[in-house]
Amino acid sequence: MVLHVRGVVLPDDEVRDLWLTEDAVSLEPLPGARTVCTEGWILPGLVDAHCHIGIAYGAKPVRDVRHARELALVDRDAGVLALRDAGSPVPYPELDDDPDVPRLARAGRHVAPVRRYLRDIGAEVTAEDVVDEVVRQARAGNGWVKLVGDWIDRGVGDLAPAWSADALRAAVAAAHAVGARAAAHTFSEEAVEILVRAGVDSVEHGTGLSLDLVDTMARNGTALVPTMINIENFEEIAAQAQPRFPGYAAHMRALHRRFPEVVAAAYEAGVPIYVGTDAGGGIHHGLAASEMLMLRDKAGMAPVDVLAAASWKAREWLGFAGLTHGGLPDLTVYPADPRTDLRVVQAPRHIILRGRVVTP
Ligand SMILES: [Zn+2]
Repeated sequence: MVLHVRGVVLPDDEVRDLWLTEDAVSLEPLPGARTVCTEGWILPGLVDAHCHIGIAYGAKPVRDVRHARELALVDRDAGVLALRDAGSPVPYPELDDDPDVPRLARAGRHVAPVRRYLRDIGAEVTAEDVVDEVVRQARAGNGWVKLVGDWIDRGVGDLAPAWSADALRAAVAAAHAVGARAAAHTFSEEAVEILVRAGVDSVEHGTGLSLDLVDTMARNGTALVPTMINIENFEEIAAQAQPRFPGYAAHMRALHRRFPEVVAAAYEAGVPIYVGTDAGGGIHHGLAASEMLMLRDKAGMAPVDVLAAASWKAREWLGFAGLTHGGLPDLTVYPADPRTDLRVVQAPRHIILRGRVVTP
């Protein structure tokens, strides 16, 4: 079945006709096409650049691959047609080719420090085993490795790097040596500095970034996936930790308070920013639009830049072609221009994934 759509195609801002097979976009007419729409604003399919379909709400591993698939479909039905899976306790390479599932850029399991990270989620290793584990998880994924760069150290009573600075640097180098890109979770000032200087490919959250580091990221093209919607949970994390770890609680509150300024500074400096929700821990699936609105409202990003961060630029970053001739037939259609009213991204009128109409 060939589909035909017509509308204003972004980012080029031109009225175009697109013909879609299950494999590719054609700018030349194809015979026997069924017309899906003749007006609207057409966006290359949205991307959630930090998402966990292997983790159900409440930070619990999914039961099985079917459960992971169900979570992926929640994202798909919100218009997210590609996602970067930033760590999963359950492997599901078979979903890469599942026609109903958004396109996946996957890390293997989170590589995490021993008995400090979320239960049953990460592959927990000491500093001396980090490199071997990074190589193992690079092979389990399809291009990414996820490092847990810091977490609470209950002995210290505050955030602390997962391992020594040398081990963190070795972890990033090991990922690169086997051809994978490294994404690092970090909340603290200390770990993010080590990781950015070590050449990590993307900073996840990055609440501890300084202005200096933001400039370094911009210069090196290091990405930031702030997951602002998830950082809103810091107050609750702090409240729970308050009785036993008051220093950690105060630190988390301070990081939360200054975070909009950090993201705004990164945006001003020209750091590549992408939309990610961190769905799976303290965030439900299907909320990419909420993160987009937060980037506009809290970090002051222009709507067109938010759209780029959630669509064409994110797709390019992850290697998923857009709506060019021969590109991937994944798109969403909106009844109004999302550049003038970003709220329309909450309700796409049509969703097409792999050349097939998605009916939520
Ligand atoms: Zn995450």
